[in-house]
Amino acid sequence: MPKAAAAAATAEADAGAVSLTYDDGLSSQLDTAVPALERRGMHGTFYVTWDNIVDRADDWARLPTRGHELGAHTVSHSCNLGTLSARAYADREFKPLEAWLDRVAGPGRARDFAYPCDVTDLGPGTANVERARYEAMLRRLRIQSARNSEGPPNPAGWVRQHPFRLQALAVGYDAQPLDVFNYLQRARAARHWAILVFHQVGDGPEADGAVSAAEHEALLDIVAASGLSVRTVGDQLRRMR
Ligand SMILES: [Zn+2]
Repeated sequence: MPKAAAAAATAEADAGAVSLTYDDGLSSQLDTAVPALERRGMHGTFYVTWDNIVDRADDWARLPTRGHELGAHTVSHSCNLGTLSARAYADREFKPLEAWLDRVAGPGRARDFAYPCDVTDLGPGTANVERARYEAMLRRLRIQSARNSEGPPNPAGWVRQHPFRLQALAVGYDAQPLDVFNYLQRARAARHWAILVFHQVGDGPEADGAVSAAEHEALLDIVAASGLSVRTVGDQLRRMR
């Protein structure tokens, strides 16, 4: 690459990034969020829950061929892990989903995960012991990152040190469009990595964190105007290595 082009590429890489993540494998994401992203040439990371996608698994399986990323969000979205052993949890909630993801996206795909309900306490012990047990289990499954739903944009040093503690902003709970705008501007100014979390987008059962199709469009406009590069979680992690 010529020097000027390399410098431009570095400047672009340093300008900060934003990942658009969608949790739970909801049909409204296939029907409303995906078309809205594709109209803008954007790609999302979809953390799918098997029980929610099973009826339309073939539709979900097509997303990786269109540049989107499929990540894991367990089989049944259990939010109470206190008494489970790591092995039982992996066997029940991860292995069937990871096997399907390998089939549809390839075994060499990025393996990214989002914690259901932000719960990280697996098995007995102190919070640190529980979290360490959870992370060790994820590493055994060759998962490279895990996302929570709170916290400021991610500095590169934080990501390298704590890939299983990616921080994000959940849209539609307390985060209104102005909060999203401010969060993205903060990422842009510091050249950090912003991660937005969506749930229900457009029509579907009433749920916490739901946004209408129009609200989703408006938020994508804010993202497009932010100056941040839109990348999937797996793509951003690859670039940061
Ligand atoms: Zn969830």
